[in-house]
Amino acid sequence: MKNLRELHAQALQEGWAVPHFNFTSLAQLQGIADALREFRSPALLGASEGERTFMGIHQTVALVRSLRDEGLAVFLNADHCRSVESAKEAADAGFDSIHADLSKKEFAENTKETREIAEYVKKVNPEAEVEGELGYLATDSSRIYAEEVVIPEDSYTKPQEAMEFVRETGVDRLAPAIGTIHGIAANTPKLRFDLAQELRAALPGITLVLHGGSGVTDEEKERIAKAGFNNIHVSTELRVAFTGALRAALRDNPDEVIPYKYLAPAREATAKVVAHHVKLFGSANRA
Ligand SMILES: [Zn+2]
Repeated sequence: MKNLRELHAQALQEGWAVPHFNFTSLAQLQGIADALREFRSPALLGASEGERTFMGIHQTVALVRSLRDEGLAVFLNADHCRSVESAKEAADAGFDSIHADLSKKEFAENTKETREIAEYVKKVNPEAEVEGELGYLATDSSRIYAEEVVIPEDSYTKPQEAMEFVRETGVDRLAPAIGTIHGIAANTPKLRFDLAQELRAALPGITLVLHGGSGVTDEEKERIAKAGFNNIHVSTELRVAFTGALRAALRDNPDEVIPYKYLAPAREATAKVVAHHVKLFGSANRA
């Protein structure tokens, strides 16, 4: 089986994207795995600090490892580690990938601490990938926003800084800000394809990651995958599908108390969203 770095290199070369799906429960993970199995797609499975704390950090690692033992091409990402300590904790626990998100800090501090994380992670596991983040997304939480979200001009990633950041930190992946937000807002975000192209040209061989994929139209998702963003995050859409199906199941069957019965539709709804994105990103039949 290919390791994560080989997988991203292949995606970049062939013009498709490795999908990144977040999970917070076994039922969600089962839904994701159902679709990956059916469509033979590789994936990065993500747990944020909140998600891994809820599930238990060691349980999170064991769950994803159990899927890989079964033959699925899945890797575990510590999504949005907001401190050096948090990143080191995930690396020690056996995560395959660490996302150092220090994008709220000043450039110099972000660079210095991301480099510290990258050096540490590679010592723990030379095959593990490290992602850095530069520029900032206007929202933190993957949820539905009733209001419109305006992205300040200054928050977009600058290609010159991105080159310096990647060179100085030694990261494998960069999450730039090109117009998406976390969650789904009242307004549809406009992706800056001109900036995407500039970044792709400036950073040969580096995996470019799109966070906040949920609010973007299908057409734009397909286009950005082909434009060399070889890793794309989907989280809010999974949460919305899971929660909606669960709500309906509980409402329609008020006497049902068996979790595996009322969770089944939520698992199926999750699988559907995953299948849709696997086809959109071109990752089907790549595992
Ligand atoms: Zn994100």
